[in-house]
Amino acid sequence: MRVEIVPCLRDNFAYLVSTDNRPECVVIDPSEAAPVERALERCGLTLTAILNTHHHHDHVGGNSQLKLSRRGLDVFGHTSDRGRIPEQTRFLEHGERFEVVGLEFSVLHIPGHTTGAIAYIVEGAAFTGDTLFAAGCGRLFEGTPRDMFESLNQKLARLPDETKIYCGHEYTVNNLRFAAALEPTNQAVARKLERVLERTGRGEPSVPSTLADERATNPFMRTDSAELRASLRLSETADAVSVLAATRAAKDKF
Ligand code: ZN
Ligand code: FE
Repeated sequence: MRVEIVPCLRDNFAYLVSTDNRPECVVIDPSEAAPVERALERCGLTLTAILNTHHHHDHVGGNSQLKLSRRGLDVFGHTSDRGRIPEQTRFLEHGERFEVVGLEFSVLHIPGHTTGAIAYIVEGAAFTGDTLFAAGCGRLFEGTPRDMFESLNQKLARLPDETKIYCGHEYTVNNLRFAAALEPTNQAVARKLERVLERTGRGEPSVPSTLADERATNPFMRTDSAELRASLRLSETADAVSVLAATRAAKDKF
């Protein structure tokens, strides 16, 4: 499998996903059409489908224009996003599998950021939109802290450690600085920040992360950490969902 990272807008990522031996690809979350068209041309790929992780404009903004010149294009999203994702033709449920461009994708429904948020899992990679970021998670616009807790720590956390995480935004440096503020002695956070600063300093994207990295560095997947709880002035017996809620509230003000 090949993943071409397509920076869009100010800090969004779209992704072209293809197999090495075929000239077609899907695009995940085309924020805008122009950079996606340029990437298709550069890679010599034709577009077969759009996969949207959720309905926000910075993830679906390119749908209509991409579809304009490709009438047969399928547009995938969660079933509950009917009417919110432009041009949607496929309405997915949690656990559903589908095949496109020779790749088998499976769907995890991961509400929290929005009610219709989904992740696409394919060949050892997870495209997580604005639910799981490298070292962070999306704001709780339509979900509860419990929704986000279950999405991150029960659904996504079940994937293997080596799963590559491709998220919707380049927020990694800021997220790691927040993680370091909550867990100043966490060496995995310090090392990852160093690595990511090196990469972004060269103008390269910080993605992909891995699920192992997220378990070690992402405060929203580290609700058991005694140091994180102490930083938030929560007791060692506080339940994990309220730890996630307090972490999210602190990040909103960071
Ligand atoms: Zn969003
Ligand atoms: Fe977004």
